[in-house]
Amino acid sequence: MAEYNVKSMHAEEFINDGEIRETIEYAEKNKHNAALIDEILEKARPKKDGNGLHCVGLSHREAAVLLACDIPEKNEAMLKLAEEIKLAFYGNRIVMFAPLYLSNYCINGCVYCPYHLKNKHIARKKLTQEEVRREVIALQDMGQ
Ligand code: SF4
Repeated sequence: MAEYNVKSMHAEEFINDGEIRETIEYAEKNKHNAALIDEILEKARPKKDGNGLHCVGLSHREAAVLLACDIPEKNEAMLKLAEEIKLAFYGNRIVMFAPLYLSNYCINGCVYCPYHLKNKHIARKKLTQEEVRREVIALQDMGQ
């Protein structure tokens, strides 16, 4: 079985079955661990420094513990913190994202996806700088 390696270029290493199972197990084991949940929430809280507010982010295991948590007051604290983080980043606005595909080349082999490396039946395309520029303008126009 492949070793978990978040920095690997191979899908089976950075999307690792063993790591996913261990993470789910870790979350189940800790979903009532109030002290750990408080610690994770504190880590997630936006902090102020000389450059303004910033968040350090959570690991996938920490996020899994929060997702598994079913302690009502901790979930309430999570909701309040989520709002705090959202306001810190986006203010009082609704922000929408649209994907901009720069190419359909891929080095991975996800079998459900037609872009996977071994599919020789599709045309591959990488946008030029000019095409990227046009795509961005088209996306901007759709948002007006
Ligand atoms: S583009 Fe398709 S094959 Fe490549 S990583 Fe994404 S899902 Fe997997």
